[in-house]
Amino acid sequence: MKTLMVRTKEREYPIHIGPGLLSSLPRFLEDIGWTVEKRLMLVTDDQVGPLYANRVRTTLASKGYRVHVATVEAGEGAKTLRRLEELTTVCLRAGLDRTGGILALGGGVVGDLAGFLAAAYMRGIPFVQLPTTLLAHDSSVGGKVGVNHPLGKNMIGAFHQPSLVVFDVDTLKTLPRREVSNGFAEVVKHALIRDPKFVRWLEENSGSLMELRPEPLTEAVLRGCSIKAEVVSKDEKEAGLRAVLNYGHTLGHALEAAAGYGTWSHGEAVAVGMVGAAMLGEELGLCPPLAERTRRILKAFGLPTRLDGDFDDDDLLERMRRDKKAERGSYTFILPRDLGRVEIVRGVEEEPVRRVLRRLRG
Ligand code: NAD
Ligand code: MG
Repeated sequence: MKTLMVRTKEREYPIHIGPGLLSSLPRFLEDIGWTVEKRLMLVTDDQVGPLYANRVRTTLASKGYRVHVATVEAGEGAKTLRRLEELTTVCLRAGLDRTGGILALGGGVVGDLAGFLAAAYMRGIPFVQLPTTLLAHDSSVGGKVGVNHPLGKNMIGAFHQPSLVVFDVDTLKTLPRREVSNGFAEVVKHALIRDPKFVRWLEENSGSLMELRPEPLTEAVLRGCSIKAEVVSKDEKEAGLRAVLNYGHTLGHALEAAAGYGTWSHGEAVAVGMVGAAMLGEELGLCPPLAERTRRILKAFGLPTRLDGDFDDDDLLERMRRDKKAERGSYTFILPRDLGRVEIVRGVEEEPVRRVLRRLRG
């Protein structure tokens, strides 16, 4: 097991990562002072619940904890105010008061929804994340929780830090392959923005990582979480540093939206976005050749690296201009300066971006 301590303004909390950790959950709860008197609401979805919820509940019940389970439907569609209200009803009926706690068992969707429930319920109660997707290494750090609005993703939310994260990498064995690759896109991103050694390590270990070997998997999650935590905590001082987490996301978001949400997974879109960012860095003479290397590493994790499909360049450009980092008349991108180092670049003209879109089809 590896443990990362995350320091935030409000508190410090541990992220435990390793195989088989769910069976030690009672001990981890005890460590943070959650005694058996604390009434618990475990929130999960209908794909993860049948696989793990019973085990978690039984483990906790055997030590004397009282655990209620609330299940929402799997997928992004559960991140709504309506589900939040329904979960609030379940908590109230179960008699959860300000001394209660929430457990979020699932991927980023359950983490965001149950975390927001914890932030809002009786003006805020503590919560613990039990991530079951690789992508959730990203969502479990940073304290962002929330739900979607019909007019936009994550439009309603809060900052609410978990009290503890227990990442049992064994749960990833049941994760669909496409979701595994989806999660690796953000792991690779974390390496590419901050840590050339980690990039090389990922290149060398992609095979055993894709086989979900617990040891390298624990290491990859740990390093991914560490980089996210470091960037997020420094942002308080270095205004704007957090923007580097959007590496590959300007084009990625445009692709996701243009294809219709759900057609491309977030990670797939970001993968193509990172290849595009590397190409743009090359076009503008900002970095040594990195696009082919970026492509190879992403391919090794089962991710797409080309712009396949019926995309209209003008539509993509328009979407990228509207991206929240954009300024009038030009584009803003996070671009590489070298392997493992990126920076925010403003005032990028349209022509090189168009050339990149053409190159991405090649
Ligand atoms: P997800 O939670 O929808 O999980 C993906 C799918 O895999 C779901 O169908 C789920 O039921 C299933 N699943 C999860 N764990 C499983 C397991 N162990 N075995 C079998 N099936 C399993 O999606 P995700 O990719 O984990 O997260 C995406 C969400 O995270 C988005 O809503 C995104 O906005 C959010 N997010 C939040 C942050 C943040 O900082 N808060 C950061 C990144 C992403
Ligand atoms: Mg992302």
